[in-house]
Amino acid sequence: MAKRGARDTPGDVEFDRCANCGSELGMDEWQPVSTVEGEDGVLSFYAFCDDACRDAHARDFDVEE
Ligand SMILES: [Zn+2]
Repeated sequence: MAKRGARDTPGDVEFDRCANCGSELGMDEWQPVSTVEGEDGVLSFYAFCDDACRDAHARDFDVEE
């Protein structure tokens, strides 16, 4: 099994998996991203495999665009 480079940064946002369905994302491909403002006003960033997942995730978080 091939190991990907050392990108272990605990606490950092993961952009290598879809935040909605968990699919692995190709880092050299375009990915839709979304920002969600938490209750404390802190913005969280999410990446998705496609627009459908982004929309589904946005609905969960009631994001307005
Ligand atoms: Zn997805």
